[in-house]
Amino acid sequence: MTTEKGTISINTENIFPIIKKFLYSDHEIFLRELVSNAVDATQKLQKLSSLGQFNGELGELKVKVSFDKDKKTITISDNGIGMTAEEVKKYINQIAFSGAKEFVEKYQQTTDKSTIIGQFGLGFYSAFMVAKEVEIITKSFQEGAEAVRWFSDGSTEFEISAAERAERGTDVILHIAEDSEEFLDEFKLEQILSKYGKFLPTTIEFKEKTINNPNPIWVKAPSELKDEDYLAFYKELYPYSEDPLFWIHLNVDYPFNLTGVLYFPKIKQDFQLNREKIQLFSKQVFITDDVKDIVPEFLQLLHGVIDSPDIPLNVSRSYLQADGNVKRINTYITKKVGEKLAELFRDNRKAFEEKWESIGLFVKYGIISDDKFYERAKEFILLKNTKNEYFTIDEYKTKLESNQVDKDGNAIALYCNDLNKEDAYIEGALKREYDVLILDDVLDAHFLNALEMKVEKLRFKRVDSEPLEKIIDKGIKAEVVLSEDEKKKVEEVFKPLIGNNIVQIEALPVDDLPVSIVQTEFMRRYTDMSKVNGQANMMPLMYNLVVNGNHPIIQKVVTEEGADLAKQLVDLALLSQGMLSGKDLTQFIHRSIERLK
Ligand code: ADP
Repeated sequence: MTTEKGTISINTENIFPIIKKFLYSDHEIFLRELVSNAVDATQKLQKLSSLGQFNGELGELKVKVSFDKDKKTITISDNGIGMTAEEVKKYINQIAFSGAKEFVEKYQQTTDKSTIIGQFGLGFYSAFMVAKEVEIITKSFQEGAEAVRWFSDGSTEFEISAAERAERGTDVILHIAEDSEEFLDEFKLEQILSKYGKFLPTTIEFKEKTINNPNPIWVKAPSELKDEDYLAFYKELYPYSEDPLFWIHLNVDYPFNLTGVLYFPKIKQDFQLNREKIQLFSKQVFITDDVKDIVPEFLQLLHGVIDSPDIPLNVSRSYLQADGNVKRINTYITKKVGEKLAELFRDNRKAFEEKWESIGLFVKYGIISDDKFYERAKEFILLKNTKNEYFTIDEYKTKLESNQVDKDGNAIALYCNDLNKEDAYIEGALKREYDVLILDDVLDAHFLNALEMKVEKLRFKRVDSEPLEKIIDKGIKAEVVLSEDEKKKVEEVFKPLIGNNIVQIEALPVDDLPVSIVQTEFMRRYTDMSKVNGQANMMPLMYNLVVNGNHPIIQKVVTEEGADLAKQLVDLALLSQGMLSGKDLTQFIHRSIERLK
């Protein structure tokens, strides 16, 4: 064959300077692109062999990456299908080139450049991000094929000539440009290879070492796998993490292609930190661990891998959210997760309850952020009470029917956020044989709101949101022993002690506290919710001072040393809510000591 020179047909401006200059971020992806091509070449040969269209020796299919610091080259070699001279012209000069051109055009139109370069490959021509000259030495697998050399210096000119190559396959030799010499480094190359190529389906060799696991568990059938395999793979993905709680093996091929394994980690209260752990692959090539627009928000708390060639990566984010496949994939994953949780709940409720602390955060997040998830989750949402007993929503509603229904027919679930701080109130509730739930995680305010919207005639109120007789108002009117005059006096004595807050005289049992502080459910929940949302709370802290008109001490307040006693009672009420501090607290202590004398 004689040397042939030519020009890549081009009618727009030269794309190479653009590839070199403007695609300055993520230059490392050249390696992902070239190694993927090499892997494809070996996979294609394997396919031809299995179809009986190639009868030669397959040998050990392999991709080798090497570099030469002195010659300033990086070489990607494979023993795949190779190319004939005609194929080089067709695939490299025409197809690959027009692909690269299309990419550069798209890139120039996209505002969020970092996402497009990371997720959508430039293909073969990404070589020019780091190389000033690129050589291909290739020999087709076809009988009697001759080796070919292609050479380009990054202009649109290329050269094709005869070459020497003993075996079938392809070498892509990059002559690294001065400004990219950082890639001529063992550590750097190994790091890039393991980032993108850790699970490529063909053996990748670098420095005589295999750097990948060509058969990760997600490509295997679940029936072939044991628990140990899933746990070992989790460790491979996240070497320093605690074992996951359980996992789901995803496997669909219609109407879209998706495989993967999703793990449920132990979720900590600061669940934000757990995000961005799901890795997205396309045919075992790592794409990204930023799955924000591909996986529903609450599912991003999970760990693991998703592999799908059907997730379009070459488009902008807003388009991605509207993409039919992405939507179907979301629905599928949500459904699978719901089914898995339901199965765990049904198979072993005890074990499910033990994991509820982690599962619960996840489920609550799901209910809050995804309307449809509630429908799947309602059978296994659990509520825990102060006696460490767990109830489903239905079970709990039934439990409330006997003693916790108000005069309007609402079942009132009492809850506390903090067993210690709200102890006095919890005690009051238990004394009345009411049940008290513990709802102490960050999402609970939002979670309760969501539940109240979904479940008819169920209300949640914190034990200290009002006097208990008001929280569960059964319409029984109790009499206050105080006369109207005495009530007025009580108001007069307490009002000056509590600023803008309200005095509320109630007819409570004689053995209840004489004075206590409550904060309405609405106000407190609003405060809690704005905290989770990261907003500053705009509402000033307001409370009601509940005076138990039937308590004997209150009789004293309206008589003799009224003001002094009232001050002491208010301070005690504040103290029990953790609201007494600074000078007020010091004075309270001094006053209490005086009284003891
Ligand atoms: P893509 O891989 O998306 O098709 P590329 O620009 O990376 O686009 O490559 C264009 C074509 O060049 C490939 O489809 C393939 O036919 C051919 N090619 C690239 N690298 C190799 C290789 N190592 N062995 C055989 N053919 C290759």
